[in-house]
Amino acid sequence: MPICPRAALAAALLIAACAQAAPPHLELDVTLDPATRALRVEATLHPARHAIVVLHEGLSVTAAEVDGESVVARAEPGAQGVREWRLARAGQRVRVVYEGTLAPLDRGADHRRVLVALPPMASPEGSFLPAGGAWYPSPGELFTYRVRLSLPAGQRGLVAGDLTEERVPGEDGARTVATFEMRSPTDGIDLMAGPYVVAERIVERAEAPSLRLRSYFTPAISALAKDYLDDSQRYIERYSKSIGAYPFASFSVVASPLPTGFGMPTLTYIGEAVLRLPFIRATSLGHEVLHNWWGNGVYVDYSGGNWAEGLTTFMADYAYKEEASAEAAREMRLGWLRDFAALPPGAAKPLTAFRSRAHGADAATGYGKAAMLFVMLRDQIGTAAFDRALRRFWSEHQFRSASWDDLRAAFEAASGRDLAVFFKQWLERADAPAPRVVAARAKGTEVELTLAQGESPYALRIPLVFDGTDGAFTRSVEFSHARETVRVGVPGSPAAVRLDPDLRLWRALDPDSLPPILRQWILARAPRYAVVSDADDVRAAAENLAQRLFESPVRRVEPADAGTSPLLLLGLPADIDAALVRLGLPPRPSDVAGRGSAQVWTIPRAPGDTPVAVVSARDAASLHALAQPLPHYGSQSWLAFDGRRALARGVWPLRAQGLAIEK
Ligand SMILES: [Zn+2]
Repeated sequence: MPICPRAALAAALLIAACAQAAPPHLELDVTLDPATRALRVEATLHPARHAIVVLHEGLSVTAAEVDGESVVARAEPGAQGVREWRLARAGQRVRVVYEGTLAPLDRGADHRRVLVALPPMASPEGSFLPAGGAWYPSPGELFTYRVRLSLPAGQRGLVAGDLTEERVPGEDGARTVATFEMRSPTDGIDLMAGPYVVAERIVERAEAPSLRLRSYFTPAISALAKDYLDDSQRYIERYSKSIGAYPFASFSVVASPLPTGFGMPTLTYIGEAVLRLPFIRATSLGHEVLHNWWGNGVYVDYSGGNWAEGLTTFMADYAYKEEASAEAAREMRLGWLRDFAALPPGAAKPLTAFRSRAHGADAATGYGKAAMLFVMLRDQIGTAAFDRALRRFWSEHQFRSASWDDLRAAFEAASGRDLAVFFKQWLERADAPAPRVVAARAKGTEVELTLAQGESPYALRIPLVFDGTDGAFTRSVEFSHARETVRVGVPGSPAAVRLDPDLRLWRALDPDSLPPILRQWILARAPRYAVVSDADDVRAAAENLAQRLFESPVRRVEPADAGTSPLLLLGLPADIDAALVRLGLPPRPSDVAGRGSAQVWTIPRAPGDTPVAVVSARDAASLHALAQPLPHYGSQSWLAFDGRRALARGVWPLRAQGLAIEK
């Protein structure tokens, strides 16, 4: 049996040696003219496993060869938006030439749609040919590639991979040509081009090829290039140190004309407007860099659920909060638990069912719950074993698909513990435990506690905080029954006990203790809205906002309509204030009163009362301006807007009480 050292060999060679079958290699010679949106490609695939080439319906095969001989290619209609080109026969090496006119860039492409579902698009201000857009013959399995991209002078473009050749024209009007190679097996090719100014930095590395850092920015934001290169370098060095060497020889930050951001191997494609936001370098950039390890370095075996978003959120977004302060980290954990508690009944899915962010309900588990799983796991096995496990996982699964089971195996090996129950309950159950302390009594130097949770109990390790005259003491107890009495030794004579006040346990927070947030309206199953002003333009703007805000169909009702599903009241300030009085609701809160052109707030209410949120706007235009930004603020209780810009926002405080200890 050959022993296959993973780190020493290029992944393609490794697969050749170990699996005795080289992955298919795709060569593309791409000519793109963004002004006319014309695309022409010569593609060679070797080995080709079948005689069908699936291409976007805008593209037509003009020539085809199998093993060096010309063959006929006939088109048949395929599934949505594609055609299947059937070659007269199969063979080892397939070469096809195809061309066509791409769709114009759709700047309004819905940010909630997954980008890979977009068609290939071109325009002088930016072209995007997504991996899932059928603009090249997909080998249908992991493959390596080489792409030579030719663009008119003034345009620059790239695909993921290492740059091997580049010609940038001067005044001669020649075309820009660049060649990229992806030597690690990958599952798709995204192509980006635009009127970019390229900034570059070469970083020498001790035991790896030098690293080429680049930004592809439009002239409007080229002043930001140095900061982005600095921070990209910092993140790559950070994760190379904690996980293992950065697995590629390049990394680029690419400005997108679309309002989104996502990561591919060796690059991240982020909306130009987003790149201007100062906090992006502090959060999203690190997240996208880290995806070169989790997701694009170790691939996700989706059959058991996507682990990569949770691990990336934990090691990037959450880690940065931990470094900022304990309060900031707690605030993020509260956000995850609050988002989960805001899901309507039945909407929660187990982590094994999470694929990618499509709806808020998926993000609450795929990002929040998965990240919390890693918080709990590190609390349980300790930081040293936790970090060892991640390095082991990385070295064992680079450029291969890995599952939650593979992660569990790495954590078990590094900690020497059986983690089957831990992973099983957090991955396979859609619900969350709701443990509580139902009785607490002082017994000499100990406290006797009765703990309870639901009928199908979780195996929990619960942090308890005892408040005494000498300060607070934290003790963790194991608890895996529906009801259990335990004794805990605590110094002094504590007066009260609080269950997990630091929120380190994934659990169902008591909805009555939770501040209402807009997500409860956005995700409501049967949302309702009422307009309290009469003017036609206000009514039209309110209707438009309601249609954009809710994820489920919304029904218009009268303001006083009885019912238990979430209600949104919209109107002009005077009409809103009058309606609040008429409905017996509390007045406009001081946090929002008189601020900006529009105010939005939720009303904390007693259990069983209709959940009510309010949108008050100075005029129809101010109401209309909320339609684009407001759906992004689901985790807030209140906001004040000036036009489309949020001036201020916040969450009403959490109501959490301790249980007094009986003496
Ligand atoms: Zn991500």
